[in-house]
Amino acid sequence: MLLKGYKTEISRPECNPGFQTVDCIAHLDQDISEVLPYLNAELGGYEYFKNPPAVTFRLQGKIIVLHGDKITINALKDEEEAEKILQWLMREANDIWERRHEIVPSYEGAPKPNLLQILKRLPGRNGCRRCGQPTCMVFATLLAQGAKGPGDCPELSDQKAQELQRYLDQFSF
Ligand code: SF4
Repeated sequence: MLLKGYKTEISRPECNPGFQTVDCIAHLDQDISEVLPYLNAELGGYEYFKNPPAVTFRLQGKIIVLHGDKITINALKDEEEAEKILQWLMREANDIWERRHEIVPSYEGAPKPNLLQILKRLPGRNGCRRCGQPTCMVFATLLAQGAKGPGDCPELSDQKAQELQRYLDQFSF
């Protein structure tokens, strides 16, 4: 077994203490740096950083970052949800560590949507702001990050929104 335990620290986001969600840092009892490229290969990390090693996952609107000595998770409902995700990650890390000889490690993040390809599929009424963003480029960046969807641009026809969604569906968020 690679990871045997951790200590959790729960906090409200500093930028807005009135938020209903909480953030979590789990300080790991063992260093898991060596399993990170195997976890990235098996679970399809969103981003991978080599030095120091870290892998990022996006899951149900949360960003989960695994470092060698800690795991951070944002936008959690409560401590119980944090515990469920941490237990799942611990099981995955230990299982993948046992099977690492069968896995080709990956040091790359998932392919990302291309901003110009997104812009080409938007109506191009730059600055109309009906999406709540100052420009189509800002909106396109949020789409690429999975923070917004095609339905958030009221200027897009249903057909164009579906086309854009098909393009985005090729990528994991
Ligand atoms: S509502 Fe659509 S067209 Fe208008 S700025 Fe936003 S993304 Fe561009």
